[in-house]
Amino acid sequence: MAFAAKRLDNLPPYLFAEIDRKKAKLIAEGHDVISLGIGDPDKPTFPRIVDAMERAIRRPENHQYPAYEGSPAYRAACAQFMSTRFGVTVDPDTQVLALIGSKEGVANLFPAFVDAGAYTLIPGVGYPVYSGGGVLNDSQSWWMPMRAENDFLADFAATPPEVVAAAQMMIISYPNNPTSAVATPEYFDAAIAYAREHDLLLVHDNAYCDVTYDGYRAPSILERPGALDCCIELFSTSKSYNMTGWRCAFAVGNADAIRTFGTVKSNVDSGIFTAVQEAAIEAFTGPQDEVAEMCELYQHRRDLVMATLDEMGLEYVYPRGTIFMWVRVPDGYTSTDYAEKLLMEAHVIVAAGTAYGPDGEGWFRISLACPNERLVEALGRLRALDA
Ligand SMILES: *Cc1c(COP(=O)(O)O)cnc(C)c1O
Repeated sequence: MAFAAKRLDNLPPYLFAEIDRKKAKLIAEGHDVISLGIGDPDKPTFPRIVDAMERAIRRPENHQYPAYEGSPAYRAACAQFMSTRFGVTVDPDTQVLALIGSKEGVANLFPAFVDAGAYTLIPGVGYPVYSGGGVLNDSQSWWMPMRAENDFLADFAATPPEVVAAAQMMIISYPNNPTSAVATPEYFDAAIAYAREHDLLLVHDNAYCDVTYDGYRAPSILERPGALDCCIELFSTSKSYNMTGWRCAFAVGNADAIRTFGTVKSNVDSGIFTAVQEAAIEAFTGPQDEVAEMCELYQHRRDLVMATLDEMGLEYVYPRGTIFMWVRVPDGYTSTDYAEKLLMEAHVIVAAGTAYGPDGEGWFRISLACPNERLVEALGRLRALDA
């Protein structure tokens, strides 16, 4: 690499590279490859939100630079969402910050809150930006064990004393990508107590709060006592309203942290397109019926996948939320071996667990963001492979 900072050598290898090469070859040979690999909703954004965008984009005042922290109306809508959805009261002026998607938010946490050489405690399997963000600002990651025997609740208490002494931030996320695990109130309380004891900023990535099944209601960590002393939480329109392409999210929580976060972001970006903010106001404050319909659709797909996995005798985490299923690979395979077998023999793409962190070995992830008929076809191929 001629033009590249040395730190980029520390970015994790791209684990899909080999799969992508084989997939391209299969497609070139005329095979029908089905992807259960990607966590991107297959359904369009709800019509009422698109209509709001259509109106907003025609207003010339929306064509100028946005307010980088989010318009007062956008931040008020975020605060209203926190109140109606969770019963959490926040001040829209000091405790809410617009994000251009929570991916941007996660990446900018590192320059805002973690010094070069210091640690961030991150989940043993998680959203890849949690580990990549530290690489980009020369800080270090500590992977908290995340195992089936602990219900995939990241075990912060197992962090060595010398690591936590050098740590400034801890990130957790429930309902969890990739494991689909959910957190208990006791777990949140223990994480808050640990963060306060060790002066850590506790970040809760709540991207899947609205994608839940069987009547399960995913909480905000800000419902817990003391959370506003040490927490910020990230919310996104991406999964709740099928808006991944729009790039619209927000951070909410501790006012000092929100101010610091805003200082970094004001040096990096210039906010969300104001018309998108207006569409998101409609998303947050309008009727939420489509969200329930979306969850029913994913729940139906989840049930189809579970029936197939049961038939195949594969062990999995029973999902009460997210658009993912976390499945144990059969004995005798590594995660990447089994993902490759499914690709080569069934022409079905799944994500190897190791793409999400060291505790992903022995697991693979199936995404439910696949049209029903394609999902049914893919599941038929898996059953045939197994027969
Ligand atoms: C999809 C996802 C996000 C959302 O990212 P956006 O940048 O808001 O689209 C954040 N965190 C996790 C864990 C996710 O899976």
